[in-house]
Amino acid sequence: MPDSLPLAVAADAFPVLAQTVHGHPLAYLDNAATTQVPRPVLAAMRRFEEFERANIHRGVHTLSQRATDAFEQARTTLKRFVGADARHELVFSSGTTEALNLVASGLSTRGPGRAVIEPGDEIIVSGLEHHANLVPWQAAARRSGATLRILRPDARGHLHKHELKALLNARTRVFAVTACANATGERPPYEALLALAADAGALTVLDAAQVAAHAVPDLSTLACDFMAFSGHKMYGPMGIGALVGRRAVLERLVPVRLGGDMVDWVSYTDAGLAALPSRLEGGTPNVAGAVGLAAAAQFIDHVGRAAIDRHIGALRARAVAGLTALDGITVLSPEAAPSAIVSFVAEGAHPHDIGTLLDERGIAVRTGHHCAQPLLDHLGRGPTTRASFALYNTPGEVDRLVAGVARALEVLR
Ligand code: PMP
Repeated sequence: MPDSLPLAVAADAFPVLAQTVHGHPLAYLDNAATTQVPRPVLAAMRRFEEFERANIHRGVHTLSQRATDAFEQARTTLKRFVGADARHELVFSSGTTEALNLVASGLSTRGPGRAVIEPGDEIIVSGLEHHANLVPWQAAARRSGATLRILRPDARGHLHKHELKALLNARTRVFAVTACANATGERPPYEALLALAADAGALTVLDAAQVAAHAVPDLSTLACDFMAFSGHKMYGPMGIGALVGRRAVLERLVPVRLGGDMVDWVSYTDAGLAALPSRLEGGTPNVAGAVGLAAAAQFIDHVGRAAIDRHIGALRARAVAGLTALDGITVLSPEAAPSAIVSFVAEGAHPHDIGTLLDERGIAVRTGHHCAQPLLDHLGRGPTTRASFALYNTPGEVDRLVAGVARALEVLR
C-alpha cells in the first residue's frame, strides 16, 4: 500500500456509491447523518466474522483469544486516533448517544458513595447541541436536583467565551458542547470554551460526532474530560462508537450496564466492579463493530485527515456560494470555520419538498430539525434542508445540488 491514499482513489472504495437512483448517479450528500463504508472496513469486519468470531475476555480457547486481541487492538488503534495518552481510557459504546448517556447518567446517579452532581449544582450545556447532548443532561439535572443552564448562541448561531464566563460559577459541575453543530454546520471555538470551563473547575464533555471523520480533536491538547463519537459518521459501521476520557473521571462514572464482564466478584447480595474499561462495558460488546471502527480510523489516516478536511471545506464553500446566489435562500452559519455541513432555508418552499425533488435527481440530502429543535427554534428557523459532505463527494455533485435546488424552487414557487 502507498503511504498515502489519494482522495480520488479512496473515493472509489465505497461500493454503495456506484449506483443510480431514479436514473441518476447517486450523489450522497447525507453524510452528517451517516457516511458510507469503504471496502477495507468491510474486509476487516468480514475477516473477523469469518476467522476470529468468538466471545471475548472469558475464553481460554484460541478463537476467543483472537477475538479478544482484535477487540483490544481496535481499542489501541482508536486511542491513538484521538490522541489519548496514558492518562486516558477508551470505552466502546453503541454510538455517541449511548456514550453521552453514560456520562450524564454516570455523573448524576448515586453509586456506593455520593453522585458527582448533587442538588444545587449546575450543568451548562451549549445551545448548539443535538438532542443527544441535551436530553440526557435534562434528565441528569432532574435526577440530581441540579440546575441546567444553556449557553445560548447569538442570533447568527455563534457561541461566545464571555457568555460562558458569565454562566460559570463555583457550583458548575459540567460543561457540555459540540465540536460542530449538526443542524447548522457551526464550528464553535470549543477548545477555548472547554479550557475556560475546566479552569473554573467543571468537568468538560465534547460531542465529536460531526468531526471524527475529518477533524478529529486531539485529546492530548484539549481540556476535555469526556469525548464521544460514532462509527457510522466516520466511514465505520453502525452500532459502535466510543467514549474516551481521562481515567480519573471515567472512574467516577456509575455504570449503567450492569451484568457480565463489568464485575470483579459477585455474591448473591453484592458485587465489586471490574477495573476500567470493562467496568463500563457490561455485556457482550459489538466486537466486529469495534474492528470495523478501528479500520475506519486507519482508512481516514491513510487518506490523511488534513487532505479530507481541506476537501470537504472546499465543497462547503462551493455549496455556500452557489446556494446563497439563489433567490430567497438563507444559509445558516455561512461563514462557519471549515465544516462538512451546509444547512439552508428557502422562502416559499418547504424543505421536505426540496428534499423530495432532489431525490428525484439522485441527490440525497436530509430535511427537518436534525434532532436539534431547540437550536432552530432559538434561531427563529423552522426545519432546514441539509447537505453534508464526505471525502468521496465532488465539486460536480455540489453543482448538481445547487442546480437541483434552483429547479426545486422553480417548481415549488
Ligand atoms: N451528536 C451529534 C452532533 C450528531 O450529529 C449525532 C447524530 N446525528 C449524534 C450526536 C448522535 O449520534 P448517534 O445517533 O450515532 O448516537
